Amino acid sequence: MVALTSKDTYDVVIIGNGALGMGVAYNLRKRDPSISIAVVGPSHRKGGATVAAGAMINVWAEMAAGQYDNPALADRAELTVAAMELWDNYCADLSEFTEKQLEVKWGTYIVNNALGSPHEMKAVDYIVELMQKRQVPHQILDPGDVPFIKPEQKGQPIRIVRVPDGRIDSRMVLSAYERFFAVRDVDLFDDTAERLQVGLKLPFVGADKTITLASGTTLKTKALVMASGSFSQALIDQVPDLRREVPRLVWGAGSGLDISLPPWVHRYGGLDRSVFDIDAVIRTVDRGGACGVHLVPYGNGEFYLGSSSGVWFEPEAKPRVHAVHVLLRSLVEEINYAFFFATMSVRGPGFRPVSMDTFPLLGQSHIPGIWFANGTKRDGFTCSPYLCGEIANEILGGRSSLPKRFLPSRSLISYKTAAEAIEDYVAADFGGEVQHGLNLPPYALEPYRNMKRAKIKEIYDKRKIQNFGIHPELPHLYDNDEFFAACDHKREIE
Ligand SMILES: Cc1cc2nc3c(=O)[nH]c(=O)nc-3n(C[C@H](O)[C@H](O)[C@H](O)COP(=O)(O)OP(=O)(O)OC[C@H]3O[C@@H](n4cnc5c(N)ncnc54)[C@H](O)[C@@H]3O)c2cc1C
Repeated sequence: MVALTSKDTYDVVIIGNGALGMGVAYNLRKRDPSISIAVVGPSHRKGGATVAAGAMINVWAEMAAGQYDNPALADRAELTVAAMELWDNYCADLSEFTEKQLEVKWGTYIVNNALGSPHEMKAVDYIVELMQKRQVPHQILDPGDVPFIKPEQKGQPIRIVRVPDGRIDSRMVLSAYERFFAVRDVDLFDDTAERLQVGLKLPFVGADKTITLASGTTLKTKALVMASGSFSQALIDQVPDLRREVPRLVWGAGSGLDISLPPWVHRYGGLDRSVFDIDAVIRTVDRGGACGVHLVPYGNGEFYLGSSSGVWFEPEAKPRVHAVHVLLRSLVEEINYAFFFATMSVRGPGFRPVSMDTFPLLGQSHIPGIWFANGTKRDGFTCSPYLCGEIANEILGGRSSLPKRFLPSRSLISYKTAAEAIEDYVAADFGGEVQHGLNLPPYALEPYRNMKRAKIKEIYDKRKIQNFGIHPELPHLYDNDEFFAACDHKREIE
């Protein structure tokens, strides 16, 4: 890449200062000390997903039943598997720029209990089978084997599986990037990008993308990276050609809770001292499309409890009551009753960047020099070392091993077949409703599922969709006329 020089002109401008934007800048600089790089993003990161995440390095616990039966879902999963291997070295390199050594603490307990739905049992069966097949070290434990998983009676575990997934505080990773940028000449603009103009004359050479920031500053570049999560849609909308070709980004809203044990519990033990022994993430698998309840220990009686999840057409500034309610109830009912005396504050909402097929948007768009590091939904932090390294390689003219199916200018990728998607919707929806209190007698289960099946089939019919599978978290966006008009996009099959 030839270095550009004028002050408002950069070789690469990255919009977004979350895990993806910062990670791309870091990887570019590591690979090329000569190019000029600017990152734009507000230091408050309000609504950012990265700062709302716990953050689990979630790989095996995220696998859904049948994940590898579908090529796109298999490719999606492989992004996390590839990233997992990179994290230890990545942290070691970044630690040069931190006061405290950065490291992933490995180990996660997946819990199955009677409060989950059948969908959860199936998912854990699949995870165990997959790990056995791939010789991933794991342990299947009896409920009594983990003394700090001490829920209320009704939430007694049926099975606990220890998997190699890990955790690291995402905010510490972001702060290490910031220190690196300060000493390695990456310009960080504490600002927001408001306008995007793209030179439309062919050939696309030179700094033909102009970004105007809220402060009035104007930046020019020939390589622009869209990494401001769902916020990027406001810029995409300004370039009709991009808007037409790239699946719309919607808002994967999620909040977590910062949980602390108050000083008197530290001193006298509260209800049960075992809470202080929690040494690894404790979580369920996917619940109704949300990433399960997960408790991430930060040490010394501090925890993160996550997280709510809902895909929305518009962002809402505050978390919903039902979302926080479910988390708090699960903490005591399903993890450890001694959290009864814990204190809490809300983290978020943050918005997971969710594309209209829920698959990520990775690499160069059909407009040369407009790149995407986006759409990573609920495991973008986990994937970030891998995705950012590969995207940086490509921006610098090298090769990337990212699946081409996730290129940003594309048709919507089908979520399995329509029939499978409908069944997954019915199962996921049931899992979600159980969390919100649904309790049916056995004879009412099948009629309930039939009613849900009929409802979703109506949505398929209304939109004349026959074979394309709508992701189970998105049917409401297809149902509402206004949302559908804004979100509809060509599909790989109809
Ligand atoms: C509650 C919650 C829990 C999660 N837990 C996990 C987890 O445990 N593990 C995991 O791997 N993933 C998790 N995720 C998902 C993960 O956080 C995301 O996939 C990932 O962080 C996305 O990173 P990003 O950089 O694309 O987006 P973001 O982190 O959202 O970053 C985008 C940035 O752009 C900035 N911005 C906004 N508008 C503009 C603008 N106009 N100009 C410039 N900048 C702008 C924002 O302030 C923000 O900082 C979770 C997400 C949520 C919400």
